[in-house]
Amino acid sequence: SQVIFVGREAGQETRVSASAETVKRLKGLGFDVIVEAGAGLKSGVPDSEFSSAGAEIGSAADISKADVVLLVNRPLDTLIPHFKRGALLLAVMNPYDAAASLNLLADQGVTALSMELMPRITRAQSMDVLSSQANLAGYRAVIDATHEYGKAMPMMMTAAGTVPAAKVFVMGAGVAGLQAIATARRLGAVVSATDVRPAAKEQVASLGGKFIAVEDEEFRAAETAAGYAKPMSEAYQQKQAALVADHIAKQDIIITTALIPGRAAPRLVTRAMLASMKPGSVAVDLAVERGGNIEGSKAGEIVDVEGVRVIGYANVPGRVAASASALYARNLYAFLETLVDKAAKEVRVNPEDELVKATMLTHAGAVVHPNFAAAAE
Ligand code: NAD
Repeated sequence: SQVIFVGREAGQETRVSASAETVKRLKGLGFDVIVEAGAGLKSGVPDSEFSSAGAEIGSAADISKADVVLLVNRPLDTLIPHFKRGALLLAVMNPYDAAASLNLLADQGVTALSMELMPRITRAQSMDVLSSQANLAGYRAVIDATHEYGKAMPMMMTAAGTVPAAKVFVMGAGVAGLQAIATARRLGAVVSATDVRPAAKEQVASLGGKFIAVEDEEFRAAETAAGYAKPMSEAYQQKQAALVADHIAKQDIIITTALIPGRAAPRLVTRAMLASMKPGSVAVDLAVERGGNIEGSKAGEIVDVEGVRVIGYANVPGRVAASASALYARNLYAFLETLVDKAAKEVRVNPEDELVKATMLTHAGAVVHPNFAAAAE
């Protein structure tokens, strides 16, 4: 049978690309599964759980036997020469500014599919790693903010007096933002949110949040066909910033999640806005690794900016590693299942399939993705 290899992640990564459940299902498709020893430790899955599910526990060297390699992140360049020629790799490849790595993968004959390039169409919903991970990041952002906040979230009426509910403002009401709204509401906060996409208004309201935005003509047209945000005009941004500035001065906690595909994150919160907040306020910048929505936020750090604790944790889904891994593993399984010839019990990647077309970075010795091929030449 063909071999699937589940690697141990490098560096600070806490997640893993398989679960006991997906190992069983991969075995069910007719594959042998090798899990690198210790791969699940940081997400609470011991080797014994993988072996009970039917995996063989192996070492890093076993990658050379693999027809399919499953990872969370792009493999280190030093690992790539050990791949079997023609192997299939599924991971969050983060292909931007990675021309050297893509060339190595192409030279090794690896077919690398980048999970985060999955189109957001109905057929691919179960494979959507951006959504599964953003959901948990939005949840965790509220937990992290609550942890740093020196006051209670819900209103409490006690014999010693009343503690007011915290006011939480969520900027960017996509997948992460909507989960942040729901989580903050469950904790009893008074929640408001903003977005530049008109469709977000109703979603925010349905979760019990108050929607704050300049709703002019530009706003009504600000969604792309793919459902993503467009960059807004200078004039709109100024009007919106004025409205938001007044609102932020009254908040206890801000959570920012705003992204625009293929661009740096929009700057939404200035130092002056932070300075207007009450002492003890907290802000979480989920966009910190993409340039940041909050002025002064630092990736991987909690910093004090104008008296506000600004949380900039990197890899927030990795802070809920067990759940994030379980969902990520299912996303991988759902995609891989479509790439398997069930009768032959073998992987057969069809380069004409729209999901393959959208995600395939390297194939048959070349960097093939139109967005990354030129840079890699
Ligand atoms: P994202 O991570 O790209 O951005 C997060 C949010 O920030 C978005 O809602 C965006 O509109 C917002 N934003 C951008 N610039 C902003 C600004 N200047 N001010 C305020 N907010 C700003 O987005 P996402 O969470 O991946 O979701 C984007 C859309 O795609 C949503 O409508 C979501 O429901 C949709 N979606 C569809 C599918 C599917 O059909 N399979 C799957 C996932 C998401």
